[in-house]
Amino acid sequence: MTVPVPESLGHLRTLLEGLVPLHMMRLNRPGELSRAHQEAEGLGDVIAETGDRLTASGNFRSPSDRAARRQVLNAIATCLALGAHQPGGVTWAGAHWCTAPHPNCPNAQQGAA
Ligand SMILES: [Zn+2]
Repeated sequence: MTVPVPESLGHLRTLLEGLVPLHMMRLNRPGELSRAHQEAEGLGDVIAETGDRLTASGNFRSPSDRAARRQVLNAIATCLALGAHQPGGVTWAGAHWCTAPHPNCPNAQQGAA
């Protein structure tokens, strides 16, 4: 089933489609997966505090705003990468990431898992 994605989330999804695999690779390094799990609650706070600003352009104009944008994007990508390491992976806004083959994987039809 394909879920329609609002245009504002479509741009974010495109960005995360590039960013999440980088974080998935980072989490494969020794100790990184455990460290990310320990930091997940703080990452959730970052997303809750700033994530809604990502849906409108022009919300990050100053250098400190851009640092906040970088922080929230990395928090979202890390949390999605953590989800990708779970059985069945994670799906967000129609994009799917996983690290092991599983039933009904939307990426399996494209030759990737
Ligand atoms: Zn999958």
